[in-house]
Amino acid sequence: MSDADRRSRSGNAANGFGYEEALLFELSREDRVGYSLPELDVPAVSPTDVLPEGSVREDLAELPELSEVDVIRHFTRLSTWNAAVDLGLYPLGSCTMKYNPKLNERVAHLAGFSAAHPRQPAALLQGFLHLCYELARHLAEVSGMDRVTLQPAAGAQGELAGIMMIRAYHEHRRDHRTKVMIPDTAHGTNPATATLNGYSVVEVPSNDAGILEPAAVDAAMTEDVAGIMVTNPNTLGLFEENMAAIAEIIHAKGGLVYGDGANLNAVLGIARPGDLGIDVMHFNLHKTFSTPHGGGGPGSGPVGIKNLLAKHLPVPVVQKSSGPDGDAYVLDSDFPLSIGRLHGNFGNAGMFVRAYAYLRSLGPDGLRRCADMAVLNANYVLARLKDSGAYKIPFDRTVMHECIVSDGNFSEQGVSTLDIAKRLIDYGYHPPTTYFPLIVPGALMIEPTESESLEGLDRFIEALLAIADEVHEDPELVRTAPHHTRRSRLDETRAARKPVLRWQPNAAE
Ligand SMILES: *Cc1c(COP(=O)(O)O)cnc(C)c1O
Repeated sequence: MSDADRRSRSGNAANGFGYEEALLFELSREDRVGYSLPELDVPAVSPTDVLPEGSVREDLAELPELSEVDVIRHFTRLSTWNAAVDLGLYPLGSCTMKYNPKLNERVAHLAGFSAAHPRQPAALLQGFLHLCYELARHLAEVSGMDRVTLQPAAGAQGELAGIMMIRAYHEHRRDHRTKVMIPDTAHGTNPATATLNGYSVVEVPSNDAGILEPAAVDAAMTEDVAGIMVTNPNTLGLFEENMAAIAEIIHAKGGLVYGDGANLNAVLGIARPGDLGIDVMHFNLHKTFSTPHGGGGPGSGPVGIKNLLAKHLPVPVVQKSSGPDGDAYVLDSDFPLSIGRLHGNFGNAGMFVRAYAYLRSLGPDGLRRCADMAVLNANYVLARLKDSGAYKIPFDRTVMHECIVSDGNFSEQGVSTLDIAKRLIDYGYHPPTTYFPLIVPGALMIEPTESESLEGLDRFIEALLAIADEVHEDPELVRTAPHHTRRSRLDETRAARKPVLRWQPNAAE
């Protein structure tokens, strides 16, 4: 597309409100100045007079020059290209794209929270620290853990913190261990975390029913294993029924049990990881506790621990001290065996306010109902897809918060899981997670969450069934999908492998 083409298409309503969009750099014009400043009423100084040598650039930065309204329209139009949970069902398995109640946003925007500065002295942050303390206490209660740190900024960083605490625990006891045991149904971040901590990974196979067998753990457990990392419910959407027995085997040989609790949606108010022998676990506030994901806001991965790891908590620890004048909240850094600080400040603080609002507005009964509905919805999708016979069902049993079907019925038509996922976009759905977990070839991992109504689930299932019909009647249509988007098939990896971070006039295709 030429520059002129792009320019003429940008903001052009010949396609209704289905705008095309050029880059801001392409919309810029050489002789335009996009800002205005009041006339100078103080003596002029040259930047070279006041700034250190070498810090003043020689040529002007090539910034795009547009008016405020052009910039606002550009970004607002781009925002309409996004799929979002506020637009429709977003069944991305393992990611729990549940609805984020707007109440959370209202509370997070209260000036006492949104205008607080992380470097304010603790005495002036009492309300916020009180909220942190209470949120940690509620998360500990929900999970059956003793203490919770809110610092980690994502699930993966929570895992890092958790395994660092396990390592610190063994090292402090002068017990040198070199391995971490991980089942083949693990989330990909688990082996990455173990490796980052200098451990080698011992993979344990799951059984034919998709869960871990105590005998398999027993066979692999030795005294140089620091611990096991278990995702429960696992990435097949199945509950690890043998968790307590597995924890016993690990503990008997001095190891610790890490629970990947990124997806607690199916167990809220029903089972508590801490009661099943888990010593340390992370939560994903941006999954289970309804704070926004990714582009919608930063993540947050608090970590719950049993008291045996308390010495190693990241600092500062928010503590409550009760005195004659009432309660005060303090930042305690007096933890000589701490793994250190994981975040410049407290963590992604705005997320704590949202998650707290969610927990308090649901209460214990609401959380329990959320788990019941999440499980019911996933099983409903699975049951209807199974009855239709249109998709292959690799593990035919009751699932937790997500279910897995596969493209196994479509190989003759040369249609892949990716094609089905792309075709779903034409039906107005963000695709489910694909090709994961790795042990199910051609997997589509569907997590409807508790947010969806029965009608909403039925519409989504009808779309999957319609696509299955299309595969048999017109496979080419599915293979070349999506057809109703501004772009169709993009190179899946180029943006990550060869990012273009600096605009060059002639590099644009
Ligand atoms: C999402 C997820 C993670 C990682 O969380 P991030 O916040 O994306 O870093 C880890 N384990 C499981 C099971 C997950 O679903």
